[in-house]
Amino acid sequence: MKEMPNVLWLEEIKKEDLISVGGKGASLGEMASLGLPVPKAFAVTAQAFRRFLIEEGIEDKIFHRLERLDVDDNDALESVSREVQDIVLSVGIPDYIREDIIDAYARMGDGGEVVAVRSSATAEDLPEASFAGQQETFLNVLGNDDLLEAVQRCWASLYGARAIYYRAKQGFDDRSVNIAVIVQDLIRSEKSGVMFTSHPVTGEPLTIVEGSWGLGEAVVSGSVSPDNYVFDLRSGRVVDSLIAEKEIMIVPEGERGVKTVKLSPEERIAPVLSDDEVARLAAFGKIAEDHYGVPQDVEWAIVGSEIFILQSRPITTIRRPDIPRAGAKPASTLGVVLLEGQGASPGIASGRVVIVRDVRDTSTIKEGDILVTRMTNPDMVPAMRRVRAIVTDEGGMTCHAAIVSRELGTPAVVGTKKATKTLRDGQVITVDGEKGTIYEGAVEVPAPAAPTAVVAAAAPMITGTLVKVNVSLPEAAVRAAATGADGVGLLRIEHLILGLAKTPGWYVEHGEEETFISELYSGIKTVLDAFPGKPVWVRTLDAPTDEFRGMEGGEAEPLEHNPMLGWRGIRRDLKSPEQFRMQVEAFKRLWAAGYSNFGVMFPLVNHPAEFVQARAMMKEWGVDVENVTLGVMVEVPSSAILIEDFIKAGIRFASFGTNDLVQYTLAIDRNNEHVADMYDPEHPAVLRLIAHAIKACREHGIECSICGQAGSDPDMVAWLVGQGITSVSANIDAVVRIREAVARKEQQILLDAARRNA
Ligand code: PEP
Ligand code: MG
Repeated sequence: MKEMPNVLWLEEIKKEDLISVGGKGASLGEMASLGLPVPKAFAVTAQAFRRFLIEEGIEDKIFHRLERLDVDDNDALESVSREVQDIVLSVGIPDYIREDIIDAYARMGDGGEVVAVRSSATAEDLPEASFAGQQETFLNVLGNDDLLEAVQRCWASLYGARAIYYRAKQGFDDRSVNIAVIVQDLIRSEKSGVMFTSHPVTGEPLTIVEGSWGLGEAVVSGSVSPDNYVFDLRSGRVVDSLIAEKEIMIVPEGERGVKTVKLSPEERIAPVLSDDEVARLAAFGKIAEDHYGVPQDVEWAIVGSEIFILQSRPITTIRRPDIPRAGAKPASTLGVVLLEGQGASPGIASGRVVIVRDVRDTSTIKEGDILVTRMTNPDMVPAMRRVRAIVTDEGGMTCHAAIVSRELGTPAVVGTKKATKTLRDGQVITVDGEKGTIYEGAVEVPAPAAPTAVVAAAAPMITGTLVKVNVSLPEAAVRAAATGADGVGLLRIEHLILGLAKTPGWYVEHGEEETFISELYSGIKTVLDAFPGKPVWVRTLDAPTDEFRGMEGGEAEPLEHNPMLGWRGIRRDLKSPEQFRMQVEAFKRLWAAGYSNFGVMFPLVNHPAEFVQARAMMKEWGVDVENVTLGVMVEVPSSAILIEDFIKAGIRFASFGTNDLVQYTLAIDRNNEHVADMYDPEHPAVLRLIAHAIKACREHGIECSICGQAGSDPDMVAWLVGQGITSVSANIDAVVRIREAVARKEQQILLDAARRNA
């Protein structure tokens, strides 16, 4: 049999080459063979990668490390991933492979061609599998050296933490997984977008085209609202168009990378496509749909009058991510119900009760125990990591125990009112964290659910509204990214700090600011590394004084009658410049290290003056405030009412912290189980405040999001999408379900629009 070359041109790719060029390469090859105008490209084959591993003698080194790895140990996963990627990057590419790549590159054009370099993973035993977490792409690559480096970096990305984790959970043998790299002419799109070749819900012959200015990343990532055109394939006419206000475009920058630029007022409202262009796009879409036999979701770009088709794949059918309950016995046969509360973190677990009255009791907790306490505190987080389930007397869906256990993936029931009194140390119980029920004894556990991450990867859905994830613990970052989230809508840094067991004041008092800054820096960096290029909103400190009290230095915290209404959020930072400055220093170092994808969000603002003052302080400390993303949480009714003044003051985004917004609007303590039944995020007053703020944000082109617990409720999210929210941020366990709700609502909106014009 003829040896597979190191390089294959698109036109040379045949169906059976899937294994050599990966899904992306094969699909581009197939589109080229249909005569669709795909950008010129070649693939560096999986065989070239294998030859590289073997000839550089690094194969065994890599697999030896991977074989011994426990992927559930996050630190080990991160460090092995780094080690293995370093191995791949530390050796040279054999000369004959380099020459093949460079020769092909020279044939791309006149030799000085700017290209996009994309990885395309493949597996020997299941070549069509989709590989989450392994999507390294380098845009705007120029010259032999940069190209070779980009190829090698794509190879290394096969061993990114997310990719390793995903394969292990999917049961793939790392030895059988390969990677091809696609080197493609970079299309400097003047316009770009996506199209559904038939109506995504009804299947009617209506092609729906969305388009915006610049590179396609803006539309695909949802960072811009695109124009929407409906083309009727029967009449051959554009039957509807909705010209959106397009704020920005993404364009190639310099010799590498891309940048976001603001559009002029005229460009913002100008239609992106002419009727003729819509018709030409629809015709290409039809070719793809006829060939594949099912409606397609197609990415396109236009330069001058030339159309390019970048990708075509079936419109994804939505799969339900629900936990399979098959095999679970009805509750009544599971055993005696001891207690009920709110199911705060899904999953079922049995174990021995350990009642914790004080953080010192946590030393008796062993792996596999069940922690039962009045309410968890940040200093209990190390113990929370060890236990199999968590039960509290107090709290609701937004309390500390609920937030942390969801991130740890540990079942939890909160607000049982009397668990610490009813349960006994050593007693064996079963906790159903979904239903909120505690059973006596160890009852049969139903078959485990498919991990959310796997479902997300198996059914990727692109939604116009970004679906992000909330993160509090850096160790949860890889799991959070594996959900396929479009970024982090809230990174709570309290947990990075509270985990240090000393208050920020202690660090200032003891001249140990540097320790604090570097801990904060590395905690945030872990999260940013898990979300390369995706937006991450880091929130400044927001810990009520009572949460600091158990820590070293906590004795200096003032005693407040009502800490929820007290010295927390931005109001505390503004009055404690040393505390604020340490945080800003960590942010500055991250920005200086090239992490431009993160924004800073101020909590609990209630007057625009607070935003203005915080920004001025950052400026004084050397932050280029005009060029970083600063926004606010809308958690106090005053900030929703005054949203326009905040916009005038220069916020770049606003995010609803409904956990607090509900408690402050309705006077319902969010952690008080006695009024938990009155805690209602859908109360008309709350909805009216939110609707008002979304409308103002939309009118002014300000990104508007939600990061409170209500953003993990599909019904609430559908309502928010209908109001025009631009992104939502959900708990790790809810991302897939929320994306489904968003997709369904968006499709309904499209359908309604299409029907109105039918
Ligand atoms: C909120 O108030 O909705 C929020 C996300 O912040 P936290 O839960 O940390 O108070
Ligand atoms: Mg809050």
